[in-house]
Amino acid sequence: MLNLKDAALFRQQCYIDGAWQDADNGESQPVRNPSTGEVLGTTPRMGAAETRRAILAAEAAWPAWRAKTAKERAGLLRKWYDLMLAHQDDLAAILTAEQGKPFAEARGEILYGASFIEWFAEEAKRIYGDTIPEPVAGRRLVVIKQPVGVVAAITPWNFPNAMITRKVGPALAAGCTVVVKPASQTPYSALALAELAERAGIPRGVFNVVTGSARAIGGELTANPAVRKLSFTGSTEIGQELMAQCAATIKKISLELGGNAPFIVFDDADLDAAVAGAIASKFRNTGQTCVCTNRLLVQAGVYDEFARRLSDAVSRLKVADGFDPDAQQGPLIDQAAVDKVEAHIADAVSKGARVLVGGKRHARGGTFFEPTVLADVTTGMAVAREETFGPVAPLFRFETEEEAIRMANDTEFGLASYFYSRDIGRVWRVAGALEYGMVGINEGLISTEVAPFGGVKHSGLGREGSKYGIDEYLEMKYLCMGGI
Ligand code: ADP
Repeated sequence: MLNLKDAALFRQQCYIDGAWQDADNGESQPVRNPSTGEVLGTTPRMGAAETRRAILAAEAAWPAWRAKTAKERAGLLRKWYDLMLAHQDDLAAILTAEQGKPFAEARGEILYGASFIEWFAEEAKRIYGDTIPEPVAGRRLVVIKQPVGVVAAITPWNFPNAMITRKVGPALAAGCTVVVKPASQTPYSALALAELAERAGIPRGVFNVVTGSARAIGGELTANPAVRKLSFTGSTEIGQELMAQCAATIKKISLELGGNAPFIVFDDADLDAAVAGAIASKFRNTGQTCVCTNRLLVQAGVYDEFARRLSDAVSRLKVADGFDPDAQQGPLIDQAAVDKVEAHIADAVSKGARVLVGGKRHARGGTFFEPTVLADVTTGMAVAREETFGPVAPLFRFETEEEAIRMANDTEFGLASYFYSRDIGRVWRVAGALEYGMVGINEGLISTEVAPFGGVKHSGLGREGSKYGIDEYLEMKYLCMGGI
């Protein structure tokens, strides 16, 4: 069982209108530790009615919240941030227990998650408008920024803390109120955030968390006209569905969807740095992030040497329960994830790929999988098209820069991309040619609260983090004053 310093952070009820609540019909659903299969507890199985109440609460809380000065909202967000840091170990323990990632990575996610609250607490005070030189004498033209209103946030299980703060930080800073629907696999991180929001003094109704049926809750969040904005992180498939559902009420939407990140290693790359970057990008969170490398494209001149060095590094990754202090690779989230990884490897091998390391379920059983490197991978294989979302590094071979760019862009996705080269001309050419929202150049880890995170094509709409992230939660209003 969970051993927390502050046991009250482990909440098994939803947080609506400043009150801890059960489902109307009393139903609940279990939450399991993916490493052990152990049931950690339950959460309410809520549906449309409870979601409607949460939306009403957010709507009722909105006028007072938006009327606060930016400095007042910033102060409350800062308190929330401080509490997250003060409870970093407990929040990380909850996260590892429900999600599986190594405890050190979970501690890192809490810092990363908290950084969005800190950043947007600061940005709250910098929501500037504009004045526009008048086109006609006797007029004054002004642009002001105002909060969009009630925001719905639907978040995934791979970053149970940070995917919430990245949405809620800018929303609250802008003066919006929020209803969050966390992933059913990882609700406790969301509920712990609610507990800390309450302690920070964030008023009732401003931040609400509803757990339960994704379809029923998502249906209400997207259909209810009081919700003015949906921010979703998850699969492209569900993103498309939610976007369609939002069409009826013309909601503003932000979507952070799937990726198919290329990681290009050119002949002139620093190979040790490329291996370190590939490990960080590919195997973080056991390969379960939307910016994880999905395809390694390696130039022919360094292909064998890179494959050898990467295989060596991958074979040393320690697979263990997230609470084992040496753990580097935790379990996959569920059996379906294991099945997909296995299917991708089987498909590749049946079409001529070679397994250099790993390739099968881990001897520990459950949802643990061996970190895997595949060589001789080609574009006809499933790993070339689909996001694997697991610990598999497939190595494709290319000859020329043009070929690498063509292969990298040959996907409907466009979230993160990476490449390694020491040639300054090539760096600028390739960075410009990659059809992606983000490019890591001689870097495998690029996420930070200060930079705009987001994708193009089927990877989504909008940006999170940075000075741009708050715009997603603001409407601009043009004021035209005449008779002057
Ligand atoms: P993942 O592959 O990361 O699990 P999903 O897109 O399936 O991504 O889920 C991301 C989030 O979307 C989760 O919180 C999930 O519960 C929610 N979700 C899934 N299906 C729906 C739906 N039909 N309507 C609303 N939310 C949904």
